[in-house]
Amino acid sequence: MEQWSEGVYLLGRYGDLMTGCWLLTNGASAAIVEVPPHDVDQWSPAIAAKLAAKQLCVNVEYILCSHAHGDHLSPETLREFQRAFPSAVLHVHESFEPHVSGIVSTRYFQGVVKLGLDGEALFLIHAPKHSWTDTFIVFRGAAFTGDWELNTIRAVDDEHEENRVPLETKLQSIALLQRFPDEQGYVVHQTFSSHANERRDNVDFAALMEDTKQDRQFW
Ligand SMILES: [Zn+2]
Repeated sequence: MEQWSEGVYLLGRYGDLMTGCWLLTNGASAAIVEVPPHDVDQWSPAIAAKLAAKQLCVNVEYILCSHAHGDHLSPETLREFQRAFPSAVLHVHESFEPHVSGIVSTRYFQGVVKLGLDGEALFLIHAPKHSWTDTFIVFRGAAFTGDWELNTIRAVDDEHEENRVPLETKLQSIALLQRFPDEQGYVVHQTFSSHANERRDNVDFAALMEDTKQDRQFW
């Protein structure tokens, strides 16, 4: 377990694509971010979460996910989390429904939802760009950006017609994220990628979103 900021812990990186599994905590409450598949020779992230929750004396209330791609959402890992934390609820955007239906008890949201961990706000914002199920998870001033491609309007799946998110939808997602801080009276000052391969501190979130409208090559 690696602490990334106040109340934000990286439990580990799992599977072929090394997707992070995260624990968010405040007071006695916690949430899991991402339910990645794990290799056969790797402990389930649910075990790591169980140990961490015990050590930190927190109760896991929510299981969250940035998007429904296979490296972030594994039905088997989801079942393992359900067994480890029987009272935790999977809280995801309604577009996850075909991916999680019938697996665990699930609550769906539309648009933006404000949850809380022991009084600290926890926002889920549906913002498709990388994929149709993209959800920003915002907690303690940090935004989990999933697999969003920052500083470019492009997405890695743009070439695949069936997965591509249209430009107009991407721009709507950016506009929603730009309105969010004012509408909620909230400051986002950090971004973390789900794969734990990028963190940005002291972020000007409005400027970052504005810059993400630019049409740039990835590298
Ligand atoms: Zn990914």
